[in-house]
Amino acid sequence: MTDPTPPGTADWAAASRLIRVEEQLTSNEWVPKLWQSDDALLLPIDSERRIPVSPSGDAVRFIRPTGDYDSQRHFLLGHLDGAPRFVTTMEWQDAQFVGSGTVVAASLRDVAANLPDAHRDVAIAAVAITNWHRNEPFCPRCGTPSEVLKAGFMRVCRQCHNEYFPRTDPAVIVAIIDPDDRLLLGRQSSWGKRVSVFAGFVETGESAEQAVHREMAEEVGLGLREVSYFGSQPWPFPRSLMLGFVAYTTETEISTGYEISYADWFTRERLERELAEGTIDIPNRSSIAHRLVTAWRTGSL
Ligand SMILES: [Zn+2]
Repeated sequence: MTDPTPPGTADWAAASRLIRVEEQLTSNEWVPKLWQSDDALLLPIDSERRIPVSPSGDAVRFIRPTGDYDSQRHFLLGHLDGAPRFVTTMEWQDAQFVGSGTVVAASLRDVAANLPDAHRDVAIAAVAITNWHRNEPFCPRCGTPSEVLKAGFMRVCRQCHNEYFPRTDPAVIVAIIDPDDRLLLGRQSSWGKRVSVFAGFVETGESAEQAVHREMAEEVGLGLREVSYFGSQPWPFPRSLMLGFVAYTTETEISTGYEISYADWFTRERLERELAEGTIDIPNRSSIAHRLVTAWRTGSL
């Protein structure tokens, strides 16, 4: 199975250019020294979780770190193009950005599809790590405020000595294809015109494949065969990793569960016609749902 990633669509399968520096993060000297280095760059995220981007949304914009390094607020994402990239939460509207040109505030949801892969990786890691610190400042066991270590990638409770790390919640998203090569698309009632393939979280103690079978039985009442892995996509809202699968079924009778308001089988001709008529919409380019639909549309599944 190939993933015919169209031009301009995010490539999640190649190695990231953002080089994580896990082994050096525990050094009390190394990270503050990087903060002071001439080539260090800082991505500021404002209190509404917006990131600074170029007006066309095709590049993340950075500032130079200033002042002393604060281990509780300044988090090191890694190196990109040889330069250390930090992130912090701060109001940045009056900040001096590196390079020329206007800077605008954007939600990652709106610009992820346009960003080059390396900038997208930095932005997603930045939103994910700042989300974690914002949402989980206390020890979940004893309630004491925990302390940030490892340049932002660990918290420790000084009271009960437990250590905490940023977590990722796996979810499965599945393109289901019937014997006539039709794709199952549907929506929840809140989605408006958008239709998509179906998704759900992996439950505790469950494999991803088991989650595929369970979720699709719950959501659309279909038994599946030939479940195969397609690809993945991180999505920090709030902390998911979407695991894409393709599944075939011999059953065509759909029985929607409580989450799904509409589901139906689409031929390629029907999908093209309804998109052209504007009666439906499909997920945007940054999503793995888009990649799954596109792979089926182009006959690559
Ligand atoms: Zn504790």
